Amino acid sequence: MKPDELSVFPAGGENTAFTAWFSGKCWLNMLSTEQVPIGNVTFEPGCRNNWHIHHAAKGGGQMLLVTAGRGYYQEWGSPARELAPGDVVHIPAGVKHWHGAAPDSWFQHLAIEVPGEECATEWCEPVSDEAYNNLKGAEDPWKK
Ligand code: MN
Repeated sequence: MKPDELSVFPAGGENTAFTAWFSGKCWLNMLSTEQVPIGNVTFEPGCRNNWHIHHAAKGGGQMLLVTAGRGYYQEWGSPARELAPGDVVHIPAGVKHWHGAAPDSWFQHLAIEVPGEECATEWCEPVSDEAYNNLKGAEDPWKK
């Protein structure tokens, strides 16, 4: 599987600017840099980002539209939500979370930067291998 074969959206180049905050390889293609910024983010199997917070004084936060593969979204203190193509995730400003691929699957989502005031992302600690490897059998309350 190549990143460009995952969906109709080109994966772009490997995202080497974010390696400090990702475990594993990811690709980033900014589909929109005007009006509402939208990036296409592709994760290799096992790749996920560190815990992080999208801060904003007003509005802000992030939306994820899943386009391919299988992955996870988890908020601090809550069980992980398993994600499949077509899923939509609303991430409020100020909520600590991570998102990324399942251990055995590529994963791709569009990341929409919700407009706001004084928006800034704070990067925190990595998702531990122990916590991540335990996700596979995690109960998924969102799955119907
Ligand atoms: Mn995020």
